[in-house]
Amino acid sequence: MSETLQATFEKARSAARRDRIPDAEARRRRLAALKRLVLENRDDFARAIDADFGGRAREEFELMEVIPLLNAIRHATRSLKRWMRDERRHVALTFRPARAWVRYEPLGVVGIISPWNYPMLLALGPLTDALAAGNRALLKPSELTPQFSEILARRVADRFEADEVAVVTGGVEVAQAFAGLPFDHLIFTGSTAVGRKVMQAAADNLTPVTLELGGKSPAIVAPDYGPERAARSIVLGKFANAGQTCIAPDYVLAPADAAEALARAVLARVERAYPDPQTNRQYSNIISQRHRDRLNAAIEEARRGGAEILQPAGATGGDKVPPTIVLGPPEDSRLMTEENFGPVLPVVPYRDLDEALAFVNARPRPLALYAFTRDAKTREAILDGAISGGVTLNGTLLHVAQDDLPFGGVGASGIGAYHGRDGFRRLSHARAVYAPGRANMFERMGPPFGRLARLAIRVLGR
Ligand code: NAD
Repeated sequence: MSETLQATFEKARSAARRDRIPDAEARRRRLAALKRLVLENRDDFARAIDADFGGRAREEFELMEVIPLLNAIRHATRSLKRWMRDERRHVALTFRPARAWVRYEPLGVVGIISPWNYPMLLALGPLTDALAAGNRALLKPSELTPQFSEILARRVADRFEADEVAVVTGGVEVAQAFAGLPFDHLIFTGSTAVGRKVMQAAADNLTPVTLELGGKSPAIVAPDYGPERAARSIVLGKFANAGQTCIAPDYVLAPADAAEALARAVLARVERAYPDPQTNRQYSNIISQRHRDRLNAAIEEARRGGAEILQPAGATGGDKVPPTIVLGPPEDSRLMTEENFGPVLPVVPYRDLDEALAFVNARPRPLALYAFTRDAKTREAILDGAISGGVTLNGTLLHVAQDDLPFGGVGASGIGAYHGRDGFRRLSHARAVYAPGRANMFERMGPPFGRLARLAIRVLGR
């Protein structure tokens, strides 16, 4: 296997070295091929993902994978000529007459390792940015969505030359070999633990990485914000894809005197949004038995630790993990120490905003932060007081869908950001070019150094 992997990589690399800077037209052609690939295969992709999950809402696939991807492709297609333009830079007086500019050049071959939770978007989203920046790419989708990964590999092979874009399938061993290839850049989306290993593997080749990781993203509800309104946004962000969303609100911080009302408002909203979750086709399944066991064990641990567990009536007794709200989880429980990554929402009461911010800051830096308030001062206090990768105010998730905003984490939630222009730049080499005018004053100073050099040292060295 690793020999074919190596051969696939070599093919892409020599093509990238041969055709180093594809023009805008060539890049648009590749983006158009990608768009056609999505449009022509969306039914097959949806069916495969549904089968891999053992139940995944089609509407969610369309709204949260297909549409954002098509938007990203459209945005890149329209903008790439502007993004590709050389950028004039300032030249200090000392060096004039001269010109300086930056050229945004392709890096070469980009490796993309993607997770199972939004398998199409998180494989083809980074690919969009890689192609816009003029790169070639190898993809390694997750082994937990085997049916989707197989179809993706076949359809990509139909649409692209093998040295343009190729998909490599397989388990952890293949993933490890993949991360060890001397890519010009490696984008990894997945867990923080595996991200660490990927960065170690990349270090051997000095391959730069973008790590899109997870973490515990908080939602802070301020006292001025109505619980029902907050509940609506929180339910959307938390229970879509049964909580298997990297930027889902992981837990909620609510004012102590409103925490119970908020928990009940979330429950009421969940009952409306997902009636009969066990049989509801719009409520997704958990990806594997191992993940279900982990979530059920975490709920039980919180129950034993004295938390109140709220679930819709009649929601248990099936295979799915029902939407679950956990009021007052023990601080040292798994629900509060690990990323939940499932339909389990701890509600943590706080006394004042400082305490809420201290709670967030005592933990690793989160991927997203949600703040619910209409008060400008409170909003600024939260933005200033707690760091995160990105933010949506008075809502959830939608910062990720903005083509003109960078998407990425900070600290333990990731390194580097992509999407739109930021993704184009991340996957380009910003090459500095300096061109002195005919009268190159700097060279006239010597050597040998004489009066002019001494004058320059006196004047410029002040
Ligand atoms: P994961 O880290 O288990 O796996 C992700 C990918 O890494 C898979 O393709 C897998 O084959 C590969 N992999 C596994 N071991 C490897 C190794 N040793 N070397 C190289 N690659 C290896 O993650 P997952 O369970 O698929 O996804 C869930 C996690 O991803 C959550 O933590 C979630 O928050 C995070 N996530 C982040 C984002 C984001 O954009 N920041 C998006 C989605 C998911």
